[in-house]
Amino acid sequence: MDIRELRGCSEDELIEICKEISLKRFRASQLFQWVQQKAVRTWEEMKNIGGRDRQTLCSRLSFYPLEKVREQRSKDGTRKYLFRLNDGETIECVLMDYARTGSRDRHTVCVSTQVGCAVGCAFCATGLEGFRRNLSVAEIVGQVLDITYYVRREDPDFLVTNIVFMGMGEPLLNYDQVLQAILLLNHRQGQNIGMRRMTISTCGVVPRIIQLAKDNPQVGLAVSLHTARDEVRNDLIPMNRRYPLGRLMAACREYTQITHRRITFEVALTAGNVKQEEAEALARLLKGQFGHVNLIPVNPVAGTGMERPDPELMRRFARVLEDAGISVSSREERGAEIDAACGQLRQQWEGELK
Ligand code: SF4
Repeated sequence: MDIRELRGCSEDELIEICKEISLKRFRASQLFQWVQQKAVRTWEEMKNIGGRDRQTLCSRLSFYPLEKVREQRSKDGTRKYLFRLNDGETIECVLMDYARTGSRDRHTVCVSTQVGCAVGCAFCATGLEGFRRNLSVAEIVGQVLDITYYVRREDPDFLVTNIVFMGMGEPLLNYDQVLQAILLLNHRQGQNIGMRRMTISTCGVVPRIIQLAKDNPQVGLAVSLHTARDEVRNDLIPMNRRYPLGRLMAACREYTQITHRRITFEVALTAGNVKQEEAEALARLLKGQFGHVNLIPVNPVAGTGMERPDPELMRRFARVLEDAGISVSSREERGAEIDAACGQLRQQWEGELK
């Protein structure tokens, strides 16, 4: 018999399963709310579903909450979690708790979409380890649900308000699962997180950018650009050899033509690339593109040899873009003292096990 992952099921799928096992339709709605809205972690917590019905449901639905292996807290409110999956693999996700820095009620979770990553970006701890597997819908949604569960034990009113698919893995290489997870997280009877409060970040998987434009789920798109020069980007993001900047920019233009949505271009700045000529090349590349540039000072990652950029040089870099009429912001540095760069916590934990 087909066993489905409870946290990955839509309400309609649960209705279908309840029908097959002769349970009333309202059980499906109760189940969906316990799991997706109240974020419970056990069958026993579903108080209005009787023991016999729970047992029947268990025969068709597996329920594996993520196991919290480690939690790190930063002074700025950022919390980083290392979760163990049912097969023993581990993933990271981060809660950026903006409530403590003045902008009330904004709680963003940075979600992982794969165990490891095949892209192998030179600046990324996850990329150093290679690809292990895609996450299921239940495992993607589960990160938001389990963070909600843990934080609500201290703050019962806690709600996740924003999601960025920017953790471990390339979300557009796990496209179908990510899109289904988005629908679940957006569901009114679930976490009810607005589509426009979710952002997919990609290193530039061109066919999937076009597909996302056509499917147009109204989520935000961020492209990790990092440099305007193919010869540099080939080394930083090996995916660039397959989809060089010319093709990537054409796909971005098509995306904005179809969706009328502005793209965020992420540029990681290091001590090595925070240069006037880099900024000028970026300004030329983005001329006429409906977008916004987000400058990110890198967190140093062991093994990559990259250093943080000088803040004054960062300001000059931003000014070159602004003078060219490009909108620019600098991402707040968050959780630097807790190994906040993607993959660092997992790398550190695995190192301790050796
Ligand atoms: S930065 Fe993203 S796409 Fe690149 S290796 Fe890391 S996880 Fe993969």
